[in-house]
Amino acid sequence: MNDSIDLNEFHWLLAVVQSIDVGVVVLDRDYRVQVWNTFMENRSGIQPKDAQNQHFFSLFPEIDRQWFSRKVESVATLGTPAFTIWEQRPYLVRFMNYQPITGEEEFMYQNTTLLPLHSPDSKINHICLVIYDVTDVATNRHQLQAANAQLQQLSSIDRLTGLYNRGHWEENLKAAYARHLRYGNELSLVMFDIDHFKRVNDTYGHQAGDKVIEQVARVLREHVRDSDAAGRYGGEEFGVVLSDTDKEGAQVFAERLRKAIEGLEVMHGDQRIRFTISLGVADLSQPANSHADLIAWSDHALYTSKESGRNRVTVYG
Ligand code: GH3
Ligand code: MG
Ligand code: MG
Repeated sequence: MNDSIDLNEFHWLLAVVQSIDVGVVVLDRDYRVQVWNTFMENRSGIQPKDAQNQHFFSLFPEIDRQWFSRKVESVATLGTPAFTIWEQRPYLVRFMNYQPITGEEEFMYQNTTLLPLHSPDSKINHICLVIYDVTDVATNRHQLQAANAQLQQLSSIDRLTGLYNRGHWEENLKAAYARHLRYGNELSLVMFDIDHFKRVNDTYGHQAGDKVIEQVARVLREHVRDSDAAGRYGGEEFGVVLSDTDKEGAQVFAERLRKAIEGLEVMHGDQRIRFTISLGVADLSQPANSHADLIAWSDHALYTSKESGRNRVTVYG
């Protein structure tokens, strides 16, 4: 103890260190605890008398020893502070999070500072570790990320059908086309349109028409694989990107879907609405200039289906 420090002043400093809302630990060069403030006591459940002279790593076995001692050694040799932030390492010591309001996080997120403590002979025999609770910051960041993900989801999904909207669907097609160019994966496209849909609207009303569109989307979802991208291309027109599938495979898929819709009955009040779809299939067995060619080709095939009597599948080329 330096005699020049006034005893009163020392007690004040001690009171400040004790009551401050950050963790304060002083370690000697053997990583033995010399100071352990109230924050540390409350969060760890270890009393100062039990922490005193204990090896820091034995109190917190979860600490990455090599990483932490490298930091401490550099603070001691260079005499400059070091910092850790929660984005890189969520915590140094694992404390439960028991903040009443932001209780969503399991543990306390922490920033830490390591300060060199100079002795009167100006040697650095002690290191002060300061632990800041930044759980609030982490919680806010996580909530923001979740909200952004939700917005992203909202802007890519069609409200009525729950399928991808046109823009997002086309992004999927573009990405699949890029994979085809790069790795040579097969890729097919199926476009389809509900037959005589105006009649459905005219006969049963617009709400019934919406219900029909919803049910078509439901049946479509039941028929696609996770790797396929199903989207609402327009009012009652849909597109399905089939990855790793050639036009023979796509034709089988399209035929199955056609039959399923043909067999579907949509109830509107006590009325049974039945209808069919016309489909067009295209793949990349002929060279394309861009993903838009696939759309044009399957659309062309779709209109051939319409012209030749509807309720059928046409393969392009
Ligand atoms: P086709 O067999 O040649 O396809 O005949 P169609 O009557 O189905 O003709 P078309 O595909 O051009 O009809 C599209 C109609 O779909 C026109 C539009 O009023 C209706 N429609 C588009 N979007 C919606 C929607 O979200 N809900 C409802 N109820 N109707 C829609
Ligand atoms: Mg139609
Ligand atoms: Mg149409």
